[in-house]
Amino acid sequence: MSSSEVSVANANQKVRPHPTQNEALLFEKSSPGKRACKLPPLDVPAVDAAALLGAAHRSRSAELPELSEIEIIRHFTRLSTWNYSIDLGMYPLGSCTMKYNPRVNEYVARIEGLAEAHPYRPDSLAQGILEVIGLLQRCLLEITGMDAITLQPAAGAHGEFTGILLVRAWHESQGNPRRKILIPDSAHGTNPASAAICGYTVETLKSNPEGGIDLEALTRQVDEETAALMLTNPSTIGVFESQIHKIADILHAKGALLYMDGANMNALVGKARPGDFGVDVMHLNLHKTFSTPHGGGGPGSGPVACKAFLEPFLPIPILVRNENGTKCAPGLDSETWESKNPDTPRVSLGWNYDRPQSIGRVRAFYGNVGMFIRALAYILANGPDGLRQTTEDAVLNANYIRSQLEDLFELPYKTPSMHEVVFSDKRQAARGIKTGDIAKRLIDYGFHPYTVSFPLIVHGALMIEPTESESREELDLFIAAMRSIAREVEENPELVKTAPHSTRVSRLDEVQAARKPILRWRPQP
Ligand SMILES: *Cc1c(COP(=O)(O)O)cnc(C)c1O
Repeated sequence: MSSSEVSVANANQKVRPHPTQNEALLFEKSSPGKRACKLPPLDVPAVDAAALLGAAHRSRSAELPELSEIEIIRHFTRLSTWNYSIDLGMYPLGSCTMKYNPRVNEYVARIEGLAEAHPYRPDSLAQGILEVIGLLQRCLLEITGMDAITLQPAAGAHGEFTGILLVRAWHESQGNPRRKILIPDSAHGTNPASAAICGYTVETLKSNPEGGIDLEALTRQVDEETAALMLTNPSTIGVFESQIHKIADILHAKGALLYMDGANMNALVGKARPGDFGVDVMHLNLHKTFSTPHGGGGPGSGPVACKAFLEPFLPIPILVRNENGTKCAPGLDSETWESKNPDTPRVSLGWNYDRPQSIGRVRAFYGNVGMFIRALAYILANGPDGLRQTTEDAVLNANYIRSQLEDLFELPYKTPSMHEVVFSDKRQAARGIKTGDIAKRLIDYGFHPYTVSFPLIVHGALMIEPTESESREELDLFIAAMRSIAREVEENPELVKTAPHSTRVSRLDEVQAARKPILRWRPQP
């Protein structure tokens, strides 16, 4: 059914709207006098608001829509079904690690004592939540093999910014901030942006034919003005940088540092530790690897872990354990706590602001604490063996998709895949079909599109990251959809070129949509 055939309802037509689409605006559904709540009779003297407020009183009504409760509930419930989400089906968006967010995380994050901990609560009354934060820090340090960490940054890109500020502060403490940062041509666009915001010139490193770093080119490019190399490992084409320790040595020999973009830790957790292979500073994306929700603008979290020599520069405040502190817990004074827990050692956690070399704050308070709780719940629920298993399953799933599609889609890099696989549209492009067309057609098969046209070093890229969340059955459905689309490209390319056919709107002008969005949709008369 094309969208023009769908029955269209507006405020003037007595037609039931399509159950999930063509929903009128609340303003269009409004009818005067309807109310969603009923107030008890007034038990205080009535006052005349207009007389009370004088000139501040609004002369016309606010013209808010007037509806009953059930109409509002149904309106928003119908709108909510327009979303494609990880809870509905596979979300193979490469580089984004759209894994399932286990419900146990949500349960733990809503525990009253954690969810309602106020950031202004004194340390002595916040020992529980501080223990949660401290434990997450220790888990992340063990996973990454690093020495110190800040949980403040609110997202991956914010973590890059923080990490490069650490690099800069350290070089400054050595007498020269240096001038440039090297970034491979396969990098995520946030890397050069972060380096530039920190005042560095970005120099691009060309990838070798296997998609990795060309060691000779690197040796030529690193000099006394190089502050750091920003490297994504595994790279955005899903390839592990097997020469990583040599890369670190080349940089260190010239006094430059190795920054690792750890957004792809889904392929490493429990298997290899950046701290063991020469990385000086890195960020993690809790909202990717550690299953806190992302997409839709929700809060993220991009902790930055570093080696001990960068620790003095970390953002303030840092969490410290004071061995001579009191014994205390929320809801109990320290004497009661002591009498009930005679064997507990006398320690307390608190925030230290007295850090003269710190780069300063990068965010209000301590970071997105709700995300810390979710990530810790995920880490503890899995345990070390479980986390290792998720990594192995993520890699297995990507390689399964690769093995089932490589006869139909061009594989630009033959190096073994890690957590994601990148094809190109070369064969389909010969029939006039681009990666974006295939992605749109995938919507008709009930899947969210993969990442289109990224990384830039692969022309017409199809970047697919299934994550460990998907079952064999779901992967087989995805593979069947991709194979069927490849067949359609041969037999009926027009069908693919004009997809999607099953959605409320089909192809949008993406440039106009970004520059001149029409936020009010009206049915055509
Ligand atoms: C997602 C991602 C980022 C940026 O993370 P945000 O949280 O979106 O800012 C950086 N680098 C890589 C490789 C990524 O996949």
